[in-house]
Amino acid sequence: MSNVSDDGSNTTETIRSRHRAVAEEVIPDHTQLFVGGEWQDAASGDTFDTLDPTTGEVLASVARGRAEDVDRAVEAAWEAYDEEWSETSTSERQAVLDAIADCIEDHQDELAKLETLDNGKTLMEARIDMDGIVEQFRFFAGAVQTNRGQTTDEPGVSGRVIHEPYGVVGQIIPWNFPLAMVSWKIAPALAAGNCTVIKPAEQTPLSILRLMELIEDIIPDGVINVVTGYGEEAGEPISKHEDVRKLAFTGSTAVGKQVMRNAADTVTDVTLELGGKSPVVVHADADPEEAVQTIAFAIFANTGECCEAGSRLFVHEEVADDVLGGLVAAAEGMNVGDPLDDETDLGPKVSREQVERTMGYLERAREGGANFLAGGEPPEDETLDDGCFVKPTLIEGLDHDHEAVQEEIFGPVLEVFRWDDYDEMMTLANDVEYGLAGGVITNDLEKADRTVRDIEAGYIWVNTWHEMSPGLPYGGYKQSGIGRELSADTLDHYTQTKSVKYDLE
Ligand code: NAP
Ligand code: MG
Repeated sequence: MSNVSDDGSNTTETIRSRHRAVAEEVIPDHTQLFVGGEWQDAASGDTFDTLDPTTGEVLASVARGRAEDVDRAVEAAWEAYDEEWSETSTSERQAVLDAIADCIEDHQDELAKLETLDNGKTLMEARIDMDGIVEQFRFFAGAVQTNRGQTTDEPGVSGRVIHEPYGVVGQIIPWNFPLAMVSWKIAPALAAGNCTVIKPAEQTPLSILRLMELIEDIIPDGVINVVTGYGEEAGEPISKHEDVRKLAFTGSTAVGKQVMRNAADTVTDVTLELGGKSPVVVHADADPEEAVQTIAFAIFANTGECCEAGSRLFVHEEVADDVLGGLVAAAEGMNVGDPLDDETDLGPKVSREQVERTMGYLERAREGGANFLAGGEPPEDETLDDGCFVKPTLIEGLDHDHEAVQEEIFGPVLEVFRWDDYDEMMTLANDVEYGLAGGVITNDLEKADRTVRDIEAGYIWVNTWHEMSPGLPYGGYKQSGIGRELSADTLDHYTQTKSVKYDLE
């Protein structure tokens, strides 16, 4: 069947048939739990469906893990750790991580398609994710060789610090960058010498399951265990488990707090990568056209489902009209549609529930006096009626303390504020509970540096957005998290130190 109608445009049926054809090609054979190197049903035998947010159709039924499945996974992870993984040399672990990177590189195309089906991000965005994922594994394959030991010496006594893995770690991830979040978690955990039990988000379990199929002969049994399921049923038992020695969580601030509370009962170390509501500061000297490009990318990439999205714009009065005019044109010019279609700029949100959440914020913003410069509703295109689409949206005129400004909407929605007094603007820019990221657009180095220092956040972009390097630590200030990922420092979060003192006399 053709993918397009006679005039070249998509129809509901062509979108559906395109998705079914790709699904046939890329959905993994195994959609069970991956525990101890084996594919296993949940103990209860229960499953849940994962949907395609473009068509609303079921992609696959996946095992619904619960506490007893988590117990089995933790046990399998310890067995793998005690019997094999704790004995591996850094070179052996480096070889495993390199082999995983090679394998992902060889299967990038199918993994990207699977990510697009399950999450709704455009294929181009999924392909960019895959490049970063390969880079993650390669980075930690190298970082594993950094000697993180330390020695101290004084006459007659000598001391040294050994960095030892925790053994078994628990990792819980969200749905916005499913396989990228897997790589941010698994690569450093394995590099540092740990085994893991990982729970993907219920909306997007498929790419990690396919990855396990691809690498099951590369990793020893039990080194990576995947328990699919719901947060309260499979995530919570991981966060409460007595034999999990370290927790790494990425997701919302509300759930992150719960994970931290659970970790307190067992005094388990925890790193948290949580939400954001990041400010984009545009100075008066900025080139409006370049600013528009950067801002549109900051908020609309990945359909706004980025924890580091630039979702509050503070634009200087002098350039505000030009920048906002350009942004309205950019938003209205975006192609919203089938993420498998190369012409599409903005795919669907991940789920119906997420659309409703975003629309709820927009409704309350309207009640709060917001002026909608663009968007604010689902697209009129009825071929998209089965999908979870929201138009790129720009709103102005809300009080900064309105919930739509203070809370993370996690959709393609930008709130706009004009400024002429820098200090007043910066007070507002920092007046949120979050502190994940921020950015500044200017060609004046001095202004850039001042704003970089003034924004209370863990990652700041100057004249760009979203770009990350494996070597630069990533993580939040304030309620955006604890700890850092991406850099070699991450190895410290996956190891504990043991000090040894020698009496030489
Ligand atoms: P979420 O609701 O907090 O879920 C994240 C993960 O936690 C999912 O696997 C979820 O399982 C699980 N979970 C839910 N309740 C749990 C509980 N009581 N105990 C243990 N685990 C539980 O977040 P989300 O909606 O998936 O993702 C969006 C959020 O993630 C946004 O706030 C975003 O900013 C944040 N995020 C942050 C970063 C960062 O690096 N800072 C990166 C990406 C995303 P279910 O899927 O089954 O509910
Ligand atoms: Mg899905």
